[in-house]
Amino acid sequence: MKTVSQRPTSAYIHIPFCTQICYYCDFAKVYIKNQPVDDYITALLAEFHAANISVLKTIYIGGGTPTALSAPQLDRLLSGITQHLDLSALEEFTVEANPGDLSDDKIAVLKAHHVNRVSLGVQTFNDKLLKKIGRSHTAQDVFDNIGKLRQAGFENITIDLIYALPTQTLADVKKDVATLLTLDLPHVALYSLILENHTIFMNKMRRGKLDLPSEDSDFEMYTYIIDQLEAAGYDHYEISNFGKKGFESAHNLMYWDNAEYYGFGAGASGYVDGIRYKNHVPIHHYIKHLDKQVIKETLTLKEQMEEELFLGLRKKEGVNMAAFTEKFGQDFETIYGDVVALQMSKHLLSKNEENVFMTRQGMLLGNDVFEAFLLDDER
Ligand code: SF4
Repeated sequence: MKTVSQRPTSAYIHIPFCTQICYYCDFAKVYIKNQPVDDYITALLAEFHAANISVLKTIYIGGGTPTALSAPQLDRLLSGITQHLDLSALEEFTVEANPGDLSDDKIAVLKAHHVNRVSLGVQTFNDKLLKKIGRSHTAQDVFDNIGKLRQAGFENITIDLIYALPTQTLADVKKDVATLLTLDLPHVALYSLILENHTIFMNKMRRGKLDLPSEDSDFEMYTYIIDQLEAAGYDHYEISNFGKKGFESAHNLMYWDNAEYYGFGAGASGYVDGIRYKNHVPIHHYIKHLDKQVIKETLTLKEQMEEELFLGLRKKEGVNMAAFTEKFGQDFETIYGDVVALQMSKHLLSKNEENVFMTRQGMLLGNDVFEAFLLDDER
């Protein structure tokens, strides 16, 4: 049996409900109307309590949209989660929120239950573009929410921004960045629009009805945003994440450090005792099954080493070669020396005495770099 100190100290909790369905989204979510929300919370808390957790350093409640729950539902969820926890150990407690849903009473509930980080799904400050991508909030909702969160004592606020949206120009991106900088937030996550299967945007694309920026404009936007954020004092500490000093996301760094974590809720993934698991989805399957986990996969050494690279290279600091060798009992240079040299010749990777890490170009083409680290099956 694992000692308390060997158990994961992070948990992801999934709330799969949304008050709108965005045109680009392929996450595990449903429109909240007529859904068994209370039964879902009951099942989720039962799953959480069955894990018998008393110490967590980071909790991340994501979705879907956690703030799609009513204030009393949110209150029941957060009380249930924190009820048996040693709160003195809890360092970072993040809840994702949709600016349109975040009312005063919900902010009060977050505050009452030790949430200390709020992640707002802003995407853009351009109201026309917000409508075009299926969001129901406006830029004004964002400004109002940030003001109210700050008034309630939330200092650690992060927002998600998406660029390369349909019809978006570099001038639009410049306006978004200028607005962002006036807000002086401690953290920003930045994504390029990705077309996923089974989304409204993918259907439109197939019908030739989606006007996306070219690859060149995508690159121009990406470079512009990074330059501006870095000049404003944000550290580009991970492919998609920028933080002021001390505001890097501890929970997300845990993923990129390839640590183990619990995952609770429909469709949530977790990694405990060397097993990666995924929970039942859709919601009624999740509620019905006593054993919530539907896929359980023990990773081979080869898979563990690949994941260490895929995840670790996302960070600005990259992967520490000596730590890799020690963790897996396999010499980093022997396994990956040639791959690193090739990627360095393409200017996608760089290294110093201790670490191997991606260049800015590498960060833009992340997947190409990751693929190079797939090992053959003999290992
Ligand atoms: S992007 Fe977020 S708010 Fe929009 S549908 Fe997906 S999970 Fe819901």
